Parts: sequence; structure tokens; C-alpha cells
Amino acid sequence: MITGASDVVVIGGGISGTAAAYELARAGAQVTLIEKGTLASMASGWTLAGVRQSGRHPAELPLATAAVARWRQLGEELGADVEYRQEGNLRLARSPAEVPVIQKIVDEQRALGLDLTFLADNASIREIAPAIAQTVLAASYCPTDGHANPIATIQAFASAAERHGATLCTETLVTAIDAGDGRVRGVRTTSGHIAAGAVVVATGVYTTRLCAPLGLDVPIKVRQVAVVQTVPLAPLIQQVVGTGGANFAGRLEVGGRFRLSGGGRPWLHHLDKLAQGNDAVLPPSARVIDALARGIEVLPTLADARVARVWGGLIDATPDALPVIERAPEVDGLIVAAGFSGHGFCLGPVTGQIVRDLVLDGATSFPIEPFRSDRFAGISTRTEALLHG
Ligand SMILES: Cc1cc2nc3c(=O)[nH]c(=O)nc-3n(C[C@H](O)[C@H](O)[C@H](O)COP(=O)(O)OP(=O)(O)OC[C@H]3O[C@@H](n4cnc5c(N)ncnc54)[C@H](O)[C@@H]3O)c2cc1C
Repeated sequence: MITGASDVVVIGGGISGTAAAYELARAGAQVTLIEKGTLASMASGWTLAGVRQSGRHPAELPLATAAVARWRQLGEELGADVEYRQEGNLRLARSPAEVPVIQKIVDEQRALGLDLTFLADNASIREIAPAIAQTVLAASYCPTDGHANPIATIQAFASAAERHGATLCTETLVTAIDAGDGRVRGVRTTSGHIAAGAVVVATGVYTTRLCAPLGLDVPIKVRQVAVVQTVPLAPLIQQVVGTGGANFAGRLEVGGRFRLSGGGRPWLHHLDKLAQGNDAVLPPSARVIDALARGIEVLPTLADARVARVWGGLIDATPDALPVIERAPEVDGLIVAAGFSGHGFCLGPVTGQIVRDLVLDGATSFPIEPFRSDRFAGISTRTEALLHG
């Protein structure tokens, strides 16, 4: 199925692109990965990096479950410490209104086979995580969820891809995907043209504009999240913490820093501004204060924590908050893996496997039917994406 000297060009050096490059290279394909900045310079570097099955849409749950199985041995497989810790996830109900939200998640996901427990009162939550505020009413608890170090993970995928013969080109922008006679021919970049029989688009928020000239509509709205990282703290909590309203999440990193993020808001700048490297991605002060307030509400000890860093993260949100993962029907050899809507870090290892299957075999055994882009056809009013947390 692959033709040309460079079998596959992967565009994007986040977790989706580097995992795909790794899987393709170790399957024997000649791979060139092109990244316009440095590796993990966008969502995959800004992320909270929770590795979570709980709270997933049913369509994503099989992928998340398969991903967690991979995460358990990913560091060993890639030959690097990705700081994966399977220490659980608590999703908290802070108000009476959030209690049935959590209860519903537990009921639905238990029915789908996930090991998820409903903790019906504060005492049972604090038995697992004593630092949780006494005001929290209930929670879901998934012991098989966890977290990892995103920078270390992307670097590990990239290095492993290189060991299998992949070529990595950073600081190189893909300006267009070349296609003719119904199939991809390669890519044009700021460093010249690269011919390829297959092109993988793993470009996060830039995916809509890169695919549009080929007649492929991947509707993505950009949302912004404020992220705060503290200095190293005394051991606070092991579990990743989220909330019923999906407007707060936090986790203690290996090394003791607490990383927390607030809810997503529309980001109204032009993407070209990012390419020029200005401050458009930095979060407004009010969003930072909001994220911190939500953190302190559920983990009161955070009120005394010193803040080391603040940054903004952009999310590639589709209308239904599910990704597009497909071999594009319009253009042979074009594979899209984007629009992960704020929860694609966990899926990364499996995204790589799916992309490999789609490039090399044209199909995959993973259930990706719900992630076709044509599900958006005819949507006249694009709804605001809901994050699943
Ligand atoms: C604050 C925040 C918290 C999150 N928390 C979680 C979480 O707890 N758990 C979870 O699973 N997920 C989480 N996510 C989501 C997760 O981080 C992303 O879904 C995932 O990292 C997406 O990876 P990606 O490789 O698809 O995209 P990206 O990481 O955005 O990578 C795309 C890359 O493509 C490059 N690129 C774009 N256009 C071009 C071009 N034309 N030429 C060359 N290169 C190009 C970009 O520079 C970028 O590096 C969070 C995201 C954010 C922002």
C-alpha cells in the first residue's frame, strides 16, 4: 500500500504523532516526522497528563482501557522512565447537584465493565485521600487510572522512533499536503518538499486548516485552559482528582509538584498569532484565579502552596468532544488523528497503534467507527464542546 521513497510523513510532534511514528517505524516503514516547533510544544506539553478511563464517553472507553494496558509497560517498552503511576482517579461531587452526575457516571461505566466505585460520603473519600476537603459530598473512584510525565513520554516515543530508523524534523512547518488523482503525494514544508505515499495529520488545533484544502472538514474549535504548577509539596494526594462539572483537575507529579487546571473557555485569537510566538496562549488572570480557587476548594492545603509556574493550554475541541481518527475517504493515503478534545494524552499509545494499522493495512481492529469525520456532515450549528473531564 505504501509507495515512494519516504513511506510515511507524520505531521505533529505531540503524543499522537510521536506514538504513530514509533509504531510505524518499528513495523518497518520509513517515517519522517515533521514538527513546526519542538516536540511536545503544544497540547502534549501543556497537558495535565491524566491517564484515565473513568468519565470517558462509551465510544472512547475501549480505547482508553487498551491504552491503560499499554501504559503499564510503556516505559519498559520505550526504554525510558515516563513516570507512569497507576494510583487512581477520584471525581468529586462538590455540591448536591454534582452527586447524581457522579452516580450516573459510575452506573454507566460499571455496566460497561470498568472497575469504578461510588463513594457515597465524605468519610469514605477521605479514607482513600485524607487531604480532600470535608465539604466534598461524594466521588467516583477508579483505582486503575493514573498519570504520567508528558514531556518524558513524548521524548521516549520520539527517541524510540529514531532508534527504529525514523527521521525527526523539528522547527519545520508543513505548509501544505500535496495530493493529486485522489491520493496524497507528500508535503510541502518550510525546508522543501517531501514525497510520501501516506501522510498522517496529528496536528491538534491546526488540523482544520491543514485538511481543508483537500476537501476534508475536521471541525475544531479552540478552547483555552489555565494550568498552574506549584513548587514541590509534602505528599498531598496520590490520586488524580477531577470534578463532576469537569471544570477542575489536578494531580501530584512525581517529584512533588502539584499541577492543576481549570475549565475550558473559547479561545478567540487567530492561530497565526501562535506561529509568531506571541503571548496569545497565556491565560487571563481571572482564569488562573478561578483554577486555583477550585483547587483550594477540594484540597484546602493548596492555599499555602507556592506557585512555580502558570501557563495556558489550548484544546482541539470537536462538536461532540470525540476525536477524528480515520483514513480519509476523500484522499487515499491521508490519515487523520486529531480533535482529542482535552483527553487525548491517555489514548496516545493506542492512537499510535491505530494510525499504524490504518497506514499499513488500511483498517484496524480497534473500534474507531464513531470517530469518522463524516459524522459532522450537515451540522449547521456547531455546539459548544463538552469536556468529559
Ligand atoms: C491543559 C490541558 C490538560 C489536559 N489534560 C489531559 C488529561 O489529563 N488527560 C488526557 O488524556 N488528555 C489531557 N489533555 C489533552 C491532551 O493533552 C491532548 O489531547 C493530547 O496531548 C493531544 O496530542 P496531539 O499529539 O494530538 O496534539 P498536540 O500535542 O497539540 O500536537 C500537535 C503538534 O502538531 C504540530 N503542528 C501543527 N501544525 C503543524 C504543521 N503545519 N507543521 C508541523 N507541525 C505542526 C504542533 O506544533 C504540535 O506540536 C489536556 C490538554 C490540555 C491543554
